[in-house]
Amino acid sequence: MVDLIAPLHRHFGHTAFRPGQEDLVRAVLDGRDVLAVMPTGSGKSLGFQLPALLLPGTTLVVSPLISLMKDQVDELNRRGIRAAALHSMLSGDARREILSSARSGDVRLLYVAPERFASDHFVRTLRDLPVARFVVDEAHCVSAWGHDFRPDYRRLRQAAAECRRSDAHPGRPPIAAFTATATPEVRDDIVDLLGLAEPQVIVAGFDRPNIELRVRPVTGELEKRQLVTELVGHKRALVYAATRRNAESAAEALQTAGHQAAAYHAGLGDADRTRVQDHFASGALLVVCATNAFGMGIDRPDVEAVVHIDIPGSLEAYYQEIGRAGRDARPAIATLLWNYADVKTREFLINHGRDESPARPGVPLDPAEAARRKELEHKKLRRMVAYADSAGCLRATILRYFGDPAAREPCGACGNCDRRAPLDADTRLLVRKILSGIARGGERYGRRRIAAMLIGNVDDLPEPLTRLSTTGLLRNEQPRTIERWIDAACGAGLIGVSEDQYRTLGLTPLGRDVMAGRVEDVRMAVPLVRQPFSRRHASGQLRVRRRGADRPERGYGRVGSTEAPGVDEEGGAAKPLESVVATLRAWRLEEARKRAIAPFVILHDRTLVAIATTLPRSSAELHAVPGIGPAKLAAYGDAILAVIESIVASVNTR
Ligand code: ADP
Ligand code: ZN
Repeated sequence: MVDLIAPLHRHFGHTAFRPGQEDLVRAVLDGRDVLAVMPTGSGKSLGFQLPALLLPGTTLVVSPLISLMKDQVDELNRRGIRAAALHSMLSGDARREILSSARSGDVRLLYVAPERFASDHFVRTLRDLPVARFVVDEAHCVSAWGHDFRPDYRRLRQAAAECRRSDAHPGRPPIAAFTATATPEVRDDIVDLLGLAEPQVIVAGFDRPNIELRVRPVTGELEKRQLVTELVGHKRALVYAATRRNAESAAEALQTAGHQAAAYHAGLGDADRTRVQDHFASGALLVVCATNAFGMGIDRPDVEAVVHIDIPGSLEAYYQEIGRAGRDARPAIATLLWNYADVKTREFLINHGRDESPARPGVPLDPAEAARRKELEHKKLRRMVAYADSAGCLRATILRYFGDPAAREPCGACGNCDRRAPLDADTRLLVRKILSGIARGGERYGRRRIAAMLIGNVDDLPEPLTRLSTTGLLRNEQPRTIERWIDAACGAGLIGVSEDQYRTLGLTPLGRDVMAGRVEDVRMAVPLVRQPFSRRHASGQLRVRRRGADRPERGYGRVGSTEAPGVDEEGGAAKPLESVVATLRAWRLEEARKRAIAPFVILHDRTLVAIATTLPRSSAELHAVPGIGPAKLAAYGDAILAVIESIVASVNTR
């Protein structure tokens, strides 16, 4: 095998290849078509620059951004490598001069802007140029699935076909396509639309070992506000939110807590946006709370923390956003605050095309195409949810998604790896009970139903689950506890989840062994579970008085009166009824905005009061509240229970 270290060192001054780089260089040298998937900044340019120096002829590099092209050409020239760029900013004379020196073999790398290929004249002059490799940078631009579709990229297949090979082999020069986009649809488009012939696919460089990954389950907005200030601390940080309002309110929460923070989203005027960006870039502003409108421009290498207060729309978006941390290779932390209720916001943004990403294609779509794209976005969201729910190594989960062979589990630097521990006898028994519940249910149900069955909340369950030997087996546990243990067992490889939207649970061979007691040495990420409500209640800490569901109407019309449960019998501090109602009302308003309907269509005031009075803690209890029929329960049940849980939690943490 040819030694590549010497030329690497001689031309570029590097002493070693980065992961994947050497394979990439060899694949390009080999003369096969190549598709390289590597993130920005990982050193993929070397994958065509080094071969360009070792092969006869000129390497053509198609690149969509003139500024990037210029930077690369300057950098190469500085290293004594002959490179030039052809784009619309040059005069005709300058272009002719560059082409003629390329034809005489004087240019190793010729960068070309994609719109040049729209000129037939240009394509004809290419025929006189011996071409070593036809390189397509940012190759996802060819795909309408991608985030940056450029119609000129569709001409590249034909343009490459017109080129003459420098090595005298018949046919067009080999094509090497480069992208940082991982989705299978985009990869397929690149292969199809550029006409790559049995390309060698190389994926590398996605691992960012200095970024520690964490997921923090939260139950409501109050908890988020508190956590975001805690996680930001005194760090330089980016906080990402799903909506403008959430970005604003995170910035407010931080300002209230004394942080230098500003919001950034597409709803701000140009001047405001530039000001926030500039202040962050100069270091005067420590924290920006942004929607994904906050894009590429931010290049501070010393961002120490990224906090997502709402779930992002895809793992690509998430990884790109957290990738803005720790560019200086110093330790950084990325935390996702995870509340399943937030998925609804994302679904809304997808369904109504309200995403703020600057990279959204401006091309109008026909309805079939638009529907296809929405479906894809929902699929990506589900992968993101699977990450948030994962109890396995978070880094390995992401790297597997990108197809990066660096995925090794456990990584030792993520929240889930940190919590991996051997199970003691008690927890092992709990896990075995859960496993047998899944087995008894015929491996046909999802997490929520299995948890309800084990606890014995049978009201909403399908018939077969109501009378299994495992029904009610864990009646002293909370649904959330069981669900978290199910996640943990998934992460430890005991339970598998179906890939469809039903997310049915099944046992893996290892899971069967553990269930049967044949395997005892189990390590898993012990879930973070909040202290169960009942225990707190029993200890007398919770002061919200619960009224019988049979008399909820009595509370109505007495909001704020001293007879409402503002002060309990023991005279302790309480959460006044009106404040509980206010929290529920705020939730209802938000829900109404999301769905663009009037608040009373969601629930009547008196139903809110009834809920506030009885504080139902399960679907069954909620169903017993007048005004909550099966349809309301299905549409809002989980959200209401989550709101109540956050109210209860906030009372208890006082
Ligand atoms: P990309 O094209 O993937 O965005 P670049 O090719 O511009 O990234 O590389 C990013 C940086 O990494 C550059 O400063 C480059 O000099 C540096 N780099 C690339 N390969 C190596 C290597 N093997 N060793 C050290 N530095 C490298
Ligand atoms: Zn890990």
